[in-house]
Amino acid sequence: MVANPDSLFPNHGNQAAAATSGKLLTVDHVNLEYRIRERIVRATHDVSFDVYGGDRFVLLGPSGCGKSTLLKAVAGFIQPTSGSISLDGRMVRGPGADRIVVFQEFDQLPPWMTVLQNVAFPLRVAKKLSRAQAKERALHYLEKVGLASFANAYPHTLSGGMKQRVAIARALAMQPRVLLMDEPFAALDALTRRKMQEELLRLWEEVNFTLLFVTHSIEEALVVGNRILLLSPHPGRVRAELNSHQYSQDSFGRTDFQRSVARIHHLLFEETEAAQ
Ligand code: ADP
Ligand code: MG
Repeated sequence: MVANPDSLFPNHGNQAAAATSGKLLTVDHVNLEYRIRERIVRATHDVSFDVYGGDRFVLLGPSGCGKSTLLKAVAGFIQPTSGSISLDGRMVRGPGADRIVVFQEFDQLPPWMTVLQNVAFPLRVAKKLSRAQAKERALHYLEKVGLASFANAYPHTLSGGMKQRVAIARALAMQPRVLLMDEPFAALDALTRRKMQEELLRLWEEVNFTLLFVTHSIEEALVVGNRILLLSPHPGRVRAELNSHQYSQDSFGRTDFQRSVARIHHLLFEETEAAQ
């Protein structure tokens, strides 16, 4: 069952995002499977969604429902068994600099490079920028995440939150068509996590990028996303798509926010249990 996008949160259509820019990413009836010897594990079943330019699109579902697998397929690391994924109307057939992933792990930064080198290196390699151009752009994005003064530090001297900021700066500096984030704040303590969500929203307003964000936290999905795709437990199927751009960090204590959390929880878990 796919709920009408507007049925959960009336008065908030997604036409605004659609109107500002066109369809960017299309995931069309995608099945994803892993083959382990003779066994086949189906990770997602018949998943479809569209991401528009400027969206903060969230894939939300319980652990094991195939969110990371979907993100990896969009990144081009794995191919769908059936269905298709296209970006700007072109089929995704492998990884590319137009899709950059920020992962959950703090060790995604090579430890032998300084913060500046971490951000500048991919710009030299993938974007073919000169040393000076790469440095200038890297510093620009480090400034955006508040880490310009740590440019010469090594990753091991940074906190988890700071490492994630570097990873975000490095991804944004590549100016991808879509920024992919796989539970980027899940390993952070609760306070830092909230702060990072807030910073991500501020960055989105300043830098204007398109985001595809994976989380299993309902609250995080509501705060970070303007649109949310709910996936059922393993194998992931689309349960509903809803709009959430009316929520921000300030919404946490509000009753309408709590009501939305309860509704999503019901859609994700209770209806599934009832169907079994
Ligand atoms: P999520 O990110 O939503 O927690 P995943 O995409 O990681 O879910 O996993 C979806 C399903 O695919 C799970 O059942 C998981 O066990 C399986 N899976 C994930 N990665 C692999 C792999 N490399 N090999 C085999 N099975 C995998
Ligand atoms: Mg995952």
